[in-house]
Amino acid sequence: VEFEGFSDEESAELTRAGVLVSTIEQLKAWARANSLWPLTFGLACCAIEMMGTGASHYDLDRFGIIFRASPRQSDVMIVAGTVTKKMGPLLRRLYDQMPDPKWVVAMGSCATAGGPYVRSYAVMKGVDQVVPVDVYIPGCPPSPPALIYGLNKLQEKIRMEARRKVGRA
Ligand code: SF4
Repeated sequence: VEFEGFSDEESAELTRAGVLVSTIEQLKAWARANSLWPLTFGLACCAIEMMGTGASHYDLDRFGIIFRASPRQSDVMIVAGTVTKKMGPLLRRLYDQMPDPKWVVAMGSCATAGGPYVRSYAVMKGVDQVVPVDVYIPGCPPSPPALIYGLNKLQEKIRMEARRKVGRA
């Protein structure tokens, strides 16, 4: 098993001490899952629901989910809206500027597969053509509870990946 931030010798030592290894991986996953920082940007009408989800009524902060204005401080990209072919490369550039580990949520039918604009020459048929997507949320637009459900699923995925890495799932 390789560990970020550790030398090969340290990784080998940690691997020998199996209990510590699994604990560190799971601790990191727990911290990451409970402090997701999505990048602040919206592309179309879905973004209005995303903003509503972040506001006081639904209060994303209670999950440790806090929007950041810079890709360099973000680890989650919520693609909320229609992705045009012109926007695709710029979206990819923002993704590349985010540090690892990072995750992508496709919010709504436009980001998932082109939505109502699926026949438009100008619209991409899913943001997964330019960035890897971890969670897809259906709807046009998805409601705030649906977005929260999707983000909770992402948190679950992060925790499960850590368990799989140390052979506990
Ligand atoms: Fe707008 Fe519907 Fe597309 Fe969301 S999925 S951006 S609500 S058209």
